[in-house]
This record gives sequence, C-alpha cells and structure tokens, in this order.
Amino acid sequence: MAIQKIGVFTSGGDAPGMNAALRSVVRSAIHSGLQVAGIMRGYEGMIDGEIKDLDARSVGNIIQRGGTILKSARSEQFKTVEGRVKALEQLKKNNIDALVAIGGDGTFTGSKIFYEEHQFSVLGVPGTIDNDLYGTDYTIGFDTAINTAVSAIDKIRDTAMAHDRLFIIEVMGRDSGLIAIETGIASGAGSILIPEIESDTQAMLDNLQKSLAAKKLFRIIVVAEGDDSGGAYKIRELIEQQFHHFDIKVTILGHIQRGGNPTCHDRVLATRLGHAAVQALKAGKHSMMVGTINHQVVYTPFEEAISKTKTIPLDWAELATVLS
Ligand code: ATP
Repeated sequence: MAIQKIGVFTSGGDAPGMNAALRSVVRSAIHSGLQVAGIMRGYEGMIDGEIKDLDARSVGNIIQRGGTILKSARSEQFKTVEGRVKALEQLKKNNIDALVAIGGDGTFTGSKIFYEEHQFSVLGVPGTIDNDLYGTDYTIGFDTAINTAVSAIDKIRDTAMAHDRLFIIEVMGRDSGLIAIETGIASGAGSILIPEIESDTQAMLDNLQKSLAAKKLFRIIVVAEGDDSGGAYKIRELIEQQFHHFDIKVTILGHIQRGGNPTCHDRVLATRLGHAAVQALKAGKHSMMVGTINHQVVYTPFEEAISKTKTIPLDWAELATVLS
C-alpha cells in the first residue's frame, strides 16, 4: 500500500544541519502530497508518543539553526523488544506508515532491527559530526564541526605564538580521526594523532627535538579524543617527561564543535539528503541510508553503512608532519 504519512525524528548525538534536513524532509513530503509528523527526542519520544503533525510553516526559520528543534536523545528502551513494540503502537496510533531517521550508526542499527521485527520502512539520513559512516563522502554536521574547530585553533595559535607556547588541542572523535586530520592540516598542526593508527609518539617527540634545536618553542599538536595515546593530558605528561623547555597548554575543544549555525555545505547536503530520503520511501525503498558520493546521491543498505568502515586518508596525517 502506498505511503500516506511519514514520521521524522533526530536521534543520537546532535549535529549542525539536522534542522535543515528536517525542513527538507517535511517540505519535500508535503510537496509530494504526503502528510508528516515530527517525533520528539528520537526513539524515546516515539515510545512515549511525543508525536505532532507538522506543516510547511512548522519548519520555517530553522535552516540556519544548529541543534535540532525535535530534540535528540539516546533510548535504552528502544534496545528492548518491548520498547520497540511500544514504539510501533504509537506510530500506528498516529497513522504513520514510514519513517525518516536523522542520526548515526546507532540510530540506523535500531531502524534495521525495527524493520526485521515489524517490517516498518525507515530511510536514514546521516547526521553526525564524526563523518564516520560508510556510504557517503560527508555526513551532515562534519563540515560545520571542522570549521568551528579550525577557527578556535586559529585563535589559540595567536596566543601560542605570542608566548612561544606548545598547545595540545583535543578534538572530538572517539573512534574516528577524520575531524582531527582535517582540522590538524587546516590549522597547520605539527603532529596529528588519531585512533585509526597506532600513535607514533616517538615521531612526535623527535619532531619536538628538532623544533627545540631550531629554537622554535611554539607548536600546535592536534589529538582526537579516542586516540590510543590517551588524549591531550596524557600527551602532555609524555612530553614533560622528556622536555622541560616547552611551556605546554592543553585545550579540550569539546561540545563547542557540535553547536553553531551550519555551514553552507552542511545546509545544502542536508537539503539534498532530506529530499532524497522522501523520494526513496515513495519509491518503496527501506532500510537504507542516503548519502552522496562524488556529489551523486547514493543509497546504501543499513547493513553496509553500519558494518563497513570508511577508509581514512592516512597519508594526510604524514602531510602535516612534512609541512610543519
Ligand atoms: P552518533 O554516532 O552521532 O552519536 P548514533 O545514532 O550512532 O549517533 P547512538 O547513541 O549510538 O547514536 O544511537 C542512538 C539510539 O539508537 C540509541 O540511543 C538507541 O535508542 C538506538 N540504538 C542504538 N543501537 C541499537 C540497537 N542495537 N538496537 C536498538 N536500538 C539501538
């Protein structure tokens, strides 16, 4: 039976551009003659029945706003069979017959299970700052996050330079070093440490030795929070054990990387992907994530998007050392 009403929700860690994706889903659906309902707080709100009908004006003036007007949450209940049955009851009660999930791999894992148990169609839109999903060159929020980080590091660079200080800057990325690599290169970092490769702390120390010999005490080191070295404070300890010449400061950029107005890139990406998700549901697709590869819209089954790993350009990290 043809779909008549779509439910849309944002889930997992929030990312700038989620609102732009929501706006696109709502307006594309209405344009296609479908009804739309917004589900608050991800799977948690689905289970609790926090669902409201949306019209084109409900998503006015949000394309430029960070966060998500639907709010986001993590739901332990949805990980249980009973929780998912409750969610299904609420969707039926609201006459929703397909979903657009805006989130990351955890969100899509839940959606995949939901289809297996209840044959409920879900299309996924990748909204996560980590850019760690297979099946898309970029996830919504990544571009904004790296630009926020770079502009923060530029400011730190000014003061680091003025006082000849060594700054160790920790950026987000528990399992993925993509934020660290791109921000490290763009901010002229001397070393970049990421979870995907065993940290060559010796190379970093050798680098510092050379710096010292050249009387250059100002340096920037970028580390991803999930790096095996243990993060920024551990690196500081390591450097202090070997050198007494550097004035070392640590900055953890933290949640600043999640907020703020989405960049033009994220708004356009979110708009394209939201629209493509609605088209896919109308065409009968389900259990797939929509993404773009080489600027073309592509659909990747949740199974692959979740289990496969995006390759990271490791030579980029070396580039930083060469150029510093
Ligand atoms: P991000 O990576 O940006 O934080 P995410 O979507 O991966 O986003 P998670 O917190 O991992 O964020 O997942 C969001 C929600 O998806 C979880 O709170 C849970 O409700 C649901 N979910 C995750 N894994 C499962 C699972 N195995 N079974 C059912 N639901 C799940």
